[in-house]
Amino acid sequence: MRAGIDLGGTKIEGLALSADGREIARLRVPTPSGDYDATLAAISAVVAQLESRAGARAAVGIGIPGTISPASGLIKNANSVCLIGHALDKDLERLLDRPVRLANDADCFALSEASDGAGAGARSVFGAILGTGVGGGLVYEGQPIGGPNAIAGEWGHNPLPWPRIWPHGDERPGPACYCGRHGCIETFLSGPGFARDHAAATGRTAAPEDIIAAAASGDSDSARSLERYIDRLARGLATVINIFDPEVVVLGGGMSKVARLYDEVPRRWGAWVFSDRVDTKLRAPVHGDSSGVRGAAWLWPPEA
Ligand SMILES: [Zn+2]
Repeated sequence: MRAGIDLGGTKIEGLALSADGREIARLRVPTPSGDYDATLAAISAVVAQLESRAGARAAVGIGIPGTISPASGLIKNANSVCLIGHALDKDLERLLDRPVRLANDADCFALSEASDGAGAGARSVFGAILGTGVGGGLVYEGQPIGGPNAIAGEWGHNPLPWPRIWPHGDERPGPACYCGRHGCIETFLSGPGFARDHAAATGRTAAPEDIIAAAASGDSDSARSLERYIDRLARGLATVINIFDPEVVVLGGGMSKVARLYDEVPRRWGAWVFSDRVDTKLRAPVHGDSSGVRGAAWLWPPEA
């Protein structure tokens, strides 16, 4: 049996998965705030509960909001800062007395959708998270792609390509990003980035879902904000297609719920992809918010 753990900033979700991808047990507990040792203990308790409900010992995979640095073996790039600098995988292996597989949460999302979701059967899948932040993961022939820096697929802190000047303003240099640069893709394509752009253009503050709803009901300012978002997403994804040429791009995160993206972005990305035609498919996620925890379980093969 496989157990997947999704370690988030506010909650730890656990799932036990059968060999054929069925959910056997699931639970969710709050993440102990800012306390590394308590976080380890909470993960261990979730595994114990899943095993007791399922009646079997589990192979454990864990998705985290960050990654293990291949050079140091310690966590980096985590927005749950209490994890940074710890060897979470080794600490959990000691606590759980078994090997543990650990991956970035965007890689888990991509792996879940590639295994038995929107990218099932495709050789190459790019999972693009459009949420509070913008991240991504690459899966090739069923395996998440790793590298010497453990950042494969992290397109969110590349600059927004082919910057434009819109009637209300220039995309250059672009908004300041927490990474220290300006004009990162994340500053335009995250949910907060979308809301910020709408506020800058209209002087009106609104949540992303309210801007989408207003655009659908005919508000022209909101429709123009969504239009800019679609144009930027097409440009951003075109750079990923030029490098990785995935069969399927799956969107995740809150902005993946915007239905118009799936028609309009593929209609436009051909303007920037270096090809006479683009056969890449853009798809909505099948497993929704469960993809992270499912992908963590899929870090182990079905027979584990
Ligand atoms: Zn950045």
